[in-house]
Amino acid sequence: MKISKEQAREKISLLKREIEEHNRRYYIDNKPSVSDFEYDLLMQELQFLESKFPQFFSHDSPTVRVGSDLSLQNSKKEFVQVTHKHPMLSLSNTYDKLELEAFNERIKKSIDSDFNYVCELKIDGTAISLTYSNNRLLRAVTRGDGNTGDDVTSNIINISSIPKTLPASNQVKDFEIRGEIFMPWSSFDSLNSERELNEEPLFANPRNAAAGSLKLLDSSEVAKRGLNAILYHVITDYPIFTTHYESLQWAKECGFPVSEHIILCHNLDSVFEYLENWDVKRKTLDYPTDGVVIKVNEFVNQKALGITSKSPKWATAYKFKAEQALTRIVSVDYQVGRTGAVTPVANLEPVLLSGTTVKRASLHNTDQMQLLDIHIGDYVYIEKGGEIIPKITSVELSKRVANAERPLFPEYCPDCNSKLYRADDEAKYYCLNSLHCPTQIKGKFLHFAGRKAMNILAGEATIEQLYALGYIKKLSDLYILSKEQLLTLEGWKERSADRFIESLNISKKTPFQKVLFALGIRHIGETTAKSLAAHFSSIANLMGASRDQLLEVEDIGETVADSIIAYFSEKENISVIEDLKNSGLLFETDNENIDIKSDKLQGMNIVVSGNFSISREELKKIIESHSGKNLSSVTSNTTYLLAGEKAGPSKLDKAKKLKIAIIDEEVFFKIIK
Ligand code: NAD
Repeated sequence: MKISKEQAREKISLLKREIEEHNRRYYIDNKPSVSDFEYDLLMQELQFLESKFPQFFSHDSPTVRVGSDLSLQNSKKEFVQVTHKHPMLSLSNTYDKLELEAFNERIKKSIDSDFNYVCELKIDGTAISLTYSNNRLLRAVTRGDGNTGDDVTSNIINISSIPKTLPASNQVKDFEIRGEIFMPWSSFDSLNSERELNEEPLFANPRNAAAGSLKLLDSSEVAKRGLNAILYHVITDYPIFTTHYESLQWAKECGFPVSEHIILCHNLDSVFEYLENWDVKRKTLDYPTDGVVIKVNEFVNQKALGITSKSPKWATAYKFKAEQALTRIVSVDYQVGRTGAVTPVANLEPVLLSGTTVKRASLHNTDQMQLLDIHIGDYVYIEKGGEIIPKITSVELSKRVANAERPLFPEYCPDCNSKLYRADDEAKYYCLNSLHCPTQIKGKFLHFAGRKAMNILAGEATIEQLYALGYIKKLSDLYILSKEQLLTLEGWKERSADRFIESLNISKKTPFQKVLFALGIRHIGETTAKSLAAHFSSIANLMGASRDQLLEVEDIGETVADSIIAYFSEKENISVIEDLKNSGLLFETDNENIDIKSDKLQGMNIVVSGNFSISREELKKIIESHSGKNLSSVTSNTTYLLAGEKAGPSKLDKAKKLKIAIIDEEVFFKIIK
């Protein structure tokens, strides 16, 4: 198809904007909205147009820049940024074996001597650079924009396979080693199941989960995510190794996690053999891979071939296409979750995909249903391109039967029949009858009893029975259940009733942060509950907090603040909390657990605002451990405003007006020393 200069200019600018948007979603938000294959097609189209119309090429084009994962300057999630000694590049890629032949030809033409390839699996995670000095891990930095990355050392030290020190006998003491941080399928499955239970957004695939986890501010949370690493690139200041293969063997001997599946290939045929072999075998691995990386082995040859601004010329990635299957949509169900969100789910004719039989696929929301233009009885393509929940990617229109009907999104809750509501900025419809919609109520009990919440011995069947018998209507009813009532449950005997009551009694010792999480307030996941509990110390303080005070808490945005306010504005919620309190549940932080180190801050009221070298919650704990008290807003009772970078301007103003001393982190630590 011929296109005019004007059309090309417009298309190039459109593609650039589109790709930048996908880059932001993928690298920063970790929520891609298109598959890698679709993204790569956009990139190819842009490359093609820029080569045909070089007058419209500019140096800021995504075709020549490494996609950046750097934390946004204005985001709360900031890490110290570090400049890489050597740029961290991307890789050229292809899905086509003919293009690999062309890659091989280019290399043959550019270098005179013999050369070999090293084939490695392309791990689908996020790149990391580890610097070792005198046999110790000095720093871990993300790829960032290729030149500068985020220092995530505090998170990386939680990955046990990464050595923090090397054997003293190791002679190569100062070097950089790069590789991939990934999330094994098993960790990804449990993380997503947990998020699903908490109605937190799911990670689309393990790559996004790994990249997102690495950028968490709370290192203890990172430690729970089961991240792992495979390292694949050694860089030394002086030539020590002659080949890439040799350097990796050394790394393995030093104790670095290096892949077992690296091979040396003397020609392209053996490269192809490796590709075919691993396209099948990779499905048996416990970690995600999306292709094979083919690298020229000899460092002299790598040097001779050089690099572009975006990728080395001595390596390329052959990417595997995501597996697809074609099946028919039998019907669409609408499921109500614990928070009232209604999710359309397609029931499919069972089909085998990537080793599992798929019967259902989420349609997410009405927008997605419209985008795909789903009709009942349609044949649809489903994919598991890294995603654990199969995704419907498109409809096979040639197979659509006449008079096929679009599924109608219900106007009323399929469970309690109350009118569904959709906020302007939300993709989902919600049943707002949270206090009386049976599915939501049962979901709330299940969440409350869950292992991460109150850890009560009550699964779905028990909750179902207790609810059906009318024994539990609100959360606090659990604590007034009698043994006689429990013995009326089907299959329950003395022992099961005793064990259940015992688990209820033990649950009364559950710390406040978990109780807060257990209440099931919309958008309050485990981590948010922890921040809120640390910040406000008691439910009374939290209930009394204004919207602005809620927004001061680390990681709390407007949606969460509004949700908390909405929750406490319901009289029934307040009465449940009162009842739970009377049953002995903990609604304030247990200050006795704080290890008191000194009374240097005795009688002092401190307000912490801004960003520091450690998290605000850690600083607050330090204040308490030196007998000080944390306040959330500046008043005449405030002793110090401990102000970090980007401290709240209104707090600074108020402190100045009230003549409250404003101190920085350095002064604070001097005071408590
Ligand atoms: P990439 O992921 O395609 O390849 C480069 C990366 O591969 C390296 O940075 C390294 O982290 C990794 N890698 C894994 N195993 C390796 C090994 N053995 N040796 C060397 N490197 C290895 O490149 P990228 O620049 O991170 O991302 C570009 C790709 O990301 C695109 O081609 C696309 O597939 C995907 N992407 C998708 C979207 C989307 O919206 N779906 C958006 C942006 C990027």
